Amino acid sequence: MNEAWRDQARSATPDWHARPAEAVAEHWTVAPESGLDEPEVTRRRERHGPNRLPEAKPRSALSRFLAQFRNLLIYVLLGAALITALLGHWVDTAVILGVVLVNAVIGFVQEGKAEDALRAIRDMLSARAMVRREGRQYTLPAEDLVPGDIVLLQAGDRVPADMRLWRARGLQIEEAALTGESVAQEKVTEPVAGEAVLGDRLGMAYSGTLVTHGQGTGIVVGTGADTEIGRISRLVSQVETLTTPLLRQMATFSRWLTGAVLGLAALIFLFGTLWRGMAPGESFMTVVGLAVAVIPEGLPAILTVTLAIGVQRLAGRQAIIRRLPVVETLGSLGVICSDKTGTLTRNEMMVRSLVTGAGHCTVEGEGYRPRGGFRRGDETLDPACHPWLTRLLRAGLLCNDATLEGSDGDWQVHGDPMEGALITAALKGGLEADDERAANPRTDLIPFDAEHKFMATLHHDHRGQAFVYVKGAPEAVLRACQAVWGEQGEEVLDPEAWEGHIEALAADGQRVLAVACKAMPSHAQEVDFADVESGLVLLGLLGLIDPPREEAIRAVADCRAAGIRVKMITGDHAGTARAIAGQLHLANADEVITGQQLERMDDDALARRVGEVDVYARVSPEHKLRLVTLLQAQGAIVAMTGDGVNDAPALKRADVGIAMGRKGTEAAKEAAEMVIADDNFASIVRAVEQGRTVYDNLKKAIVFLLPINGGEAISILIAVLFGLTLPITPVQILWVNMVSSVALAMALAFEATEPDAMRRPPRPADEAMISSFLLWRIALVAALMAAGVFGIFRLALAEGASLEEARTYAVNTLVLMEIFYLFSVRFLRTPSLTWERMFNSRAAILAVAVVALLQLTFTYAPFMNHFFDTRPVDFVHGVEIVLIGVGLFAVLEVEKLWLRRAAGRHRSDGG
Ligand code: ATP
Repeated sequence: MNEAWRDQARSATPDWHARPAEAVAEHWTVAPESGLDEPEVTRRRERHGPNRLPEAKPRSALSRFLAQFRNLLIYVLLGAALITALLGHWVDTAVILGVVLVNAVIGFVQEGKAEDALRAIRDMLSARAMVRREGRQYTLPAEDLVPGDIVLLQAGDRVPADMRLWRARGLQIEEAALTGESVAQEKVTEPVAGEAVLGDRLGMAYSGTLVTHGQGTGIVVGTGADTEIGRISRLVSQVETLTTPLLRQMATFSRWLTGAVLGLAALIFLFGTLWRGMAPGESFMTVVGLAVAVIPEGLPAILTVTLAIGVQRLAGRQAIIRRLPVVETLGSLGVICSDKTGTLTRNEMMVRSLVTGAGHCTVEGEGYRPRGGFRRGDETLDPACHPWLTRLLRAGLLCNDATLEGSDGDWQVHGDPMEGALITAALKGGLEADDERAANPRTDLIPFDAEHKFMATLHHDHRGQAFVYVKGAPEAVLRACQAVWGEQGEEVLDPEAWEGHIEALAADGQRVLAVACKAMPSHAQEVDFADVESGLVLLGLLGLIDPPREEAIRAVADCRAAGIRVKMITGDHAGTARAIAGQLHLANADEVITGQQLERMDDDALARRVGEVDVYARVSPEHKLRLVTLLQAQGAIVAMTGDGVNDAPALKRADVGIAMGRKGTEAAKEAAEMVIADDNFASIVRAVEQGRTVYDNLKKAIVFLLPINGGEAISILIAVLFGLTLPITPVQILWVNMVSSVALAMALAFEATEPDAMRRPPRPADEAMISSFLLWRIALVAALMAAGVFGIFRLALAEGASLEEARTYAVNTLVLMEIFYLFSVRFLRTPSLTWERMFNSRAAILAVAVVALLQLTFTYAPFMNHFFDTRPVDFVHGVEIVLIGVGLFAVLEVEKLWLRRAAGRHRSDGG
């Protein structure tokens, strides 16, 4: 789309808000009741393009590559290259520059990985919109909208395009994204004055704003860059970096270390030249060696790659991370508060039982397929002969916003699955959905909301009669009923008996809905809360089955083993909740606190119970916030799931807010840290497992890399302090740090989940990553590495080897020790020496193969001999070097064994 076209379009049609909605519909040639047809949609999409804001151009590869050189360490190295060049050490200069280049390439690749990871999760989060086309409702990617489309809005939606409202029912929209005003605006459909400013255009809903209440329908008048938000922000640049608190800490640590090392290097330079009387050139090279030895050059890159791979793996397991620090928090999660419907259960509902004034019936059949009969005891019922049955089924069909589509095998619901089940039941009863809707057109509705727990619709039939159908949570409906419909018409209602029926259905794990009706004056055009507060006639109860997901049952067991408490927080009935909790084997499935009880309890009383009780029923979203806060006050790290607008505060408050990808509203997704694409509880638990893995792998990368730098630094320090020759030259150290170490450490990013990852308790949130055990391990390995390097170097010299040969042995020894250490570090506390553990990581084996190849080139290729001053190693020394590597591995295996024994003794002593 070009600018001129857009300007013309804007000046030609600027005042949608001032025109009646009918005129707007006419302008876009669309009938709001049926929407556009597909050929027209295709034509308009070609003309107007996708409904997407133009994205900022991604940085070019070249600028991304150049950005790699903007880094303190690189400046240090470039400085070193300059000085070596001035001193005439050309080979060193070339090597340093080569290493700088290699480092930039690694950084470039690593950033590419990070960007891929972020793009993948962004793409999974694209918004969706409910549209009416060809008389049917569809949920589509918001990107597919075209001008003239009829869009249905409900609480929690982010408005997907600019639209002129056609219908508004208690519709409130928060327009802070556009106007800065955070109080939601009540919307109507009447036109306003042409000069009204954005915030006063009550008949419009603008792209990017948030529906906080009610329902509405609108005609799309602007998409993509032609929306108000598109005009404000021509470009949405999504500059994000892949980082977490731990990574930031490590980056600060690296910077701090670099600074400290430079200071120290200056001191040593002075010490070397003034005290030891070294030549400035030689002293400078020593200092450069020390600096590159101590600074863990590869660490930040490795950590970012580890995180990027973690985020990608999570996305592959249906968990989309919206705020990266949550990857770390996942590992310390102690409590998961989960919704029931659709998360712990399958959300494939079916009406199984009907309880009416004329008795109990069972409904036969499977899933949404409308095949199956009705039985009352042993009797098979013909619905046509039982008006009480048809009446109940018709009410369920009409007081309903879902549609059911399909043919023989495959039936699908668009909308609420529970409402889909009601349609299936009505079809089984011989009703025709379209005929019924045509015969009893709907004139108004009170939409369902989690607070009131019912929905009501007003209908008129063609004989001029008006009536309201109400369906909802039984206690909400029953309260307003004064009679019940039985075999002979209206009968007296015995509330206690009906309570009993409800309890019985719920105890069986069925979700219970009550359906009622009421005659209205024939001229009634609207239905209000007052109309449905009394005088209803109960048509019956519907018992729906929604079995727990098999994988959720397993995931709950996994949580138990992992020391994570699962709590079910549902809007459903206490009895149903208890029955499902029992089937899921929650730790405490017997006790239930209901929303009502919760209201009556003060914080102290609730705080005493909240740890123990795992089932919360009939709670509204506000209660969730209170539960999270109280659990957190007891020191728990809490995850909370949610899907509605009202869940947003609790999601924000929780340490890990989890929104449902399918049934969740945009509002919930935006408030959440993580979105679960398949709404499945098992995916949450897999995300926790992956979170623990990422943290373990970050830890392993740090524990792997630090001792190498430590070992090198110790070797050089000893040399400087005792006035000995350096066992490894600075450029050789650069080679080890930036090539061999990085290639090996990269393998750790791909480490699989440790077998006991979900068998240990959650990590305390305030636990330092580098525990005293790890510090000891780092120190031990650093010392062993220094001993190995120094040992072989001195020994070789004593045996008469040349300095170059001795140094080549030393470098190879260091790399071999790294290789063996890699296998050791993969399992920090348990033995690494088993056939399976040595060979079960393809990444590790590949990394070793690559490093072996590089090392052979380094040692035997003449050009490498020239650049790095290396010499070919003979067989005997080669074996010696490998044996030193094996030795390091053996010492560490013995240490692990010894530590495990000590820990065992400690435990058996009762410690
Ligand atoms: P969860 O929080 O576990 O997802 P839920 O889906 O049962 O539970 P809500 O959506 O708050 O929670 O529903 C609460 C109750 O409201 C349900 O048990 C049901 O009785 C009633 N209800 C749910 N959806 C509708 C609807 N579309 N129309 C009428 N009543 C409904």
